[in-house]
Parts: sequence; C-alpha cells; structure tokens
Amino acid sequence: MSAVPGAGTVLSVVIPMFNEESALPALVARLRPVLDGIGAGYGGAGYEVVAVDDGSSDRTAALLEDFRIGWPELRVVRLRRNSGHQAALTAGLHRAVGDYVVSIDADLQDPPEKIPEMLELARSGDLDIVYGVRTDRSADTGFKRRTAGVYYWLMRRLVGDRMPSQAGDFRLLSRQAVDALKELPDQQQVYRLLVPWLGFPSGQVSYEREERVAGETKYPLSRMIRLGVDSVTGFSAAPLRVATWLGVLSFFVCLLLIVFTLGAFAAGHVVPGWSSLFIGILFLGAVQLICLGLLGEYVGRIYTAVQRRPTFFVGYDSADAPRSVRAAT
Ligand code: UDP
Ligand code: MG
Repeated sequence: MSAVPGAGTVLSVVIPMFNEESALPALVARLRPVLDGIGAGYGGAGYEVVAVDDGSSDRTAALLEDFRIGWPELRVVRLRRNSGHQAALTAGLHRAVGDYVVSIDADLQDPPEKIPEMLELARSGDLDIVYGVRTDRSADTGFKRRTAGVYYWLMRRLVGDRMPSQAGDFRLLSRQAVDALKELPDQQQVYRLLVPWLGFPSGQVSYEREERVAGETKYPLSRMIRLGVDSVTGFSAAPLRVATWLGVLSFFVCLLLIVFTLGAFAAGHVVPGWSSLFIGILFLGAVQLICLGLLGEYVGRIYTAVQRRPTFFVGYDSADAPRSVRAAT
C-alpha cells in the first residue's frame, strides 16, 4: 500500500542520506523485510520510508528512483542542496505522515531490526519517545568514541539527566512529539538535545553500534565541531559567563604582575621587562579574542534567527509527483 498522507500510515521511517550510493542496496535489503513484517503484524497497517536525499552528488537519487519502482512504500524527498544531517532530518520530520516516526542513518550503523522493538515499547508503554542507546561503540574509531564521550558528558551538564548518554539520531517519536518539534523556531536544530528537552515520556532500546556498511563518514572533524558549537550555544549561555570569569581571572593575574614589578623596582632590580610584558599582552589578547569569538557565536545565532530563513528547500517529493517522473541525477 502506498503511503497516502495521514490515512492509515502507522510508521514513517526517515532516513537522511548524503552520497550513500554504496550503502543503499544493503540498507534496502535489511530494512524492507523488517518493515514489511511490522505492516503484517499490525493487520497490514501502512508504513512509509521517507528517504531524504540531502543534495547528493553521486548516484543516490537515481538508485532511490530504481528502488521506488518495486517498493511503493518508499518515498523520496530531495533537497535542492546539501543542507546537513540535522536539516535533512528536519525535512523528513516535516514530510513524514505516520503516527510514529523513526529516524535512522543510511549506513546501517543503527540496526533496523530494532525498529519493531521501539514501536512495541512506545505502544505498550504509551511513550512518545524511544531512544536508541548505543551500548557498544567499539566499531567506531577511538577518536570518535573519545570526542563522543566528552560531548555527552558536556551536554548532560547543560541539558540535564533527561538526555540519555549515547543516544544519537536513531529514535522513535510519536506524532505528538513530531508536531511539537515542528513548532520550534530553532534554526540550528540539534535533535539529540531538543528531543529530551521536550519532556515527553520516554523509553530506551539499547543496541550495538555497527560498522558503517559502505562508504565513508559524512561527519568530518569540522562538522563535528559545528555540531558541538551548535549544541552548546543552542542550549546555554554559560560560555558567555565563562568569558566574564576569564576576564576577571586575567585581571587578577595582571594585578599580581603589577605588584611583582613594583616590588622588583623597589628592591632596586632592573626589570628585564620584555618577556613579562609580552606574555601579558599575548595573554590578554588571547582572552579577548576568545571572548569575542564566543560573542560572535551568539550574535551569529541571533542573526540567523532574525533572518528566519528555512534550513532546507525540498526540490522534489515523490509523493507529489506522478510515478513516471524519473530523477535527474
Ligand atoms: N548525512 C546527511 N547530510 C550530510 C551528512 C550526513 O544527510 O550532510 C547523513 C548520512 O548520509 C547518514 C547520516 O547522516 O545517513 C549520518 O552520517 P554519517 O554516518 O556519515 O555520520 P557518522 O555515523 O560517521 O557520525
Ligand atoms: Mg554513520
């Protein structure tokens, strides 16, 4: 049964994908039997897969169209340009019509076989959110594990314990939770923080993080840093206070230096001068630049907030187009 918006679609599975041509066949092979099984279990209740093609430049779009021919539940939403993982998720959440929406990565690092368990837990416990929590990340690189450790530690301090540690973007949301998320005016959405912040009743399903089935990570260090900065500035003004404390600290260090220099003068020592002067200037300069940078991050957020530009543009949605329209690659 094809997913008719609203009518009888129990589950939407949102998959952001950027240049995932090599992972796609394996994804379809593992995901489809699981979802067909759920459909049968619920008396043929419909599901849809919302594949959000985040402006891929490889054959992802063409492959999706091919898969769609034999899999009517597959729906393709293509963004005009690469907008990033979180924006692609936003697009998927806005387009999904199911009573429940599961978001999952395209690279099979999150096992699709856990989806029925998530759905069952949500339905039996009347929960709005079910997090996929990674119990074992040995498949990730040591660097990724360590940076993730710091990230979750910091975020739990900012958002509180409601944020489960090691819960990424593999999760189930009820229609109510999705609608609540859609209402938020945030421009730089970081869902792993926004979702716990909503405060809906939630549960967890644990799983082992598998290795990427094919292709390479689309999260280079620069994007990880961006996600970290967005996470912090989106949820806390604490760094601005840190800036103030840094300023106070350097003020006292300078006071000490002045006392020391005056003391040296009084004792008749010639102050060698250059090095201490230079260190002082460098130190103050560094503190000021850090503080300016911090201010810049927040001013940047205000700037994008007042622009109110959408974070993504949908160029094509297979649910809107006649089936015969083929994707241009
Ligand atoms: N992704 C995306 N747009 C991007 C970057 C990534 O839609 O600009 C998708 C990617 O195709 C994958 C998911 O986001 O389905 C997670 O990315 P990835 O697996 O590369 O991240 P990692 O698991 O290495 O953190
Ligand atoms: Mg991955």
